[in-house]
Amino acid sequence: MQTLDAVVVGGSFAGLSAAMQLARARRRIVLVDGGRPRNRFAHAAHGFLGQDGRTPAEIVQLARGQVLAYPTAAFRTDEAVAARQEDGAFTLQLASGDTLRARRLVLATGIVDDLPDVPGLRERWGRTALHCPYCHGYEVADGRLGILATGEMDVHKALLIPDWSADVTLFTNGVLTPTDEQAAMLASRGVRIEARPVEALVGDAPALAGVRLRDGGVVPLDAVFVSSRTHMASPLAEQLGCAFEDGPFGPVIVTDARKETTVPFVFAAGDAARSNHNATFASADGVQAGASAHQSLAFPHWPPAPPR
Ligand SMILES: Cc1cc2nc3c(=O)[nH]c(=O)nc-3n(C[C@H](O)[C@H](O)[C@H](O)COP(=O)(O)OP(=O)(O)OC[C@H]3O[C@@H](n4cnc5c(N)ncnc54)[C@H](O)[C@@H]3O)c2cc1C
Repeated sequence: MQTLDAVVVGGSFAGLSAAMQLARARRRIVLVDGGRPRNRFAHAAHGFLGQDGRTPAEIVQLARGQVLAYPTAAFRTDEAVAARQEDGAFTLQLASGDTLRARRLVLATGIVDDLPDVPGLRERWGRTALHCPYCHGYEVADGRLGILATGEMDVHKALLIPDWSADVTLFTNGVLTPTDEQAAMLASRGVRIEARPVEALVGDAPALAGVRLRDGGVVPLDAVFVSSRTHMASPLAEQLGCAFEDGPFGPVIVTDARKETTVPFVFAAGDAARSNHNATFASADGVQAGASAHQSLAFPHWPPAPPR
C-alpha cells in the first residue's frame, strides 16, 4: 500500500484549509470527507470573508474545487471509521472497506450539536432556532428574539442580543437563576426574564410563531437563540490516544500552538480542537495544522511541542 504524506479527515472549513497548505507544498495527500458539516442546516453562512451569504454547500464546493486543482491532492467521499499507528505511519480504515496509510494525520472532523429536548426545536435548527448571533443575528434583527437558556453562559448571550433587537426575552427554563446583579444588568439592557418553564416552540416550521409555556401561555417570537452541548463527530482522536479537555460546550481535542495533538504527527483543527466556533476560526486553524504537518515532514527533527 502506498504511504501518503498526509491524510486530512474532514473536508469542510478546517480540513480544506489544511489540505490547501499541504497541496501547495506539493505533498501527496488524500482528503476524506463524509459530507456532514455542522452548519448544513443553515440556508446561508455569514461572516466568512469573501463568502458572506453563500450557502455552506456552495462555499465547500468552491474551496474543494480549488484544492483539487493541485495535482498531488485527491478526494474521497467516505467515512474514516478507525485509525491506528503502526511502523511509523498511520493507517485509516474507511467505511467503504478501503485503507489509507499516511505519515501525518490532520483531524478536522468537527463536532455534533446535542440539542435540548424541546419539541419544535430540531426542525427549526439553523433557520429560526439559532446558535450564534454573529452568524445569524443580523438576519433576524429588529424581530422578537428569545434566548432559551441551557446553561449559566446564557446570561452573557442575553446581554449581547439587545444589539440586534429591542424586543428580547430570556427564558430561564429552570436551568438558570440570574443573580440580583445579573438581573439588574439584563434589565439595563432591556431584556425581559421569563421564568415559567418552556413546553415547545410553535408555528409553521421552520418559521417560528412563539414559545409555548407549560402553563399554556404563548410568548410570540420570530427567532430564538439556543446554545447546544456538543460531542466529537468522530472517534478517531480517541482511538489514537489524543488527550481531550473540557470546553464550555463539550470536549475539545488538546493541541499546542502548532495545532499538533498530544500524539506526535497527529494534528487537529476546527471545531473539534477549539472552544470558540466559527468558520473563520476553523479555517485559520486548518491553515496552521496543514502548515505544521508539512513542516513536520520537511524538518529532519520536528521539535517536541512547546509547553502549553
Ligand atoms: C446551524 C449552524 C449555523 C452556523 N452558521 C455559521 C455561520 O453563518 N458562520 C460561521 O462562521 N459559522 C457558522 N457556524 C459554525 C460553523 O459551522 C463551524 O464553526 C464550522 O463548520 C467548523 O468547521 P470544521 O471544518 O471544524 O467542521 P465541520 O464544518 O463540521 O466539518 C467537519 C467535516 O468532517 C466530516 N467528518 C467528520 N468525521 C469524519 C470521518 N470520520 N470521516 C470522514 N469525514 C468526517 C464531516 O462529514 C464534515 O464534513 C454554524 C454552526 C451551526 C450549527
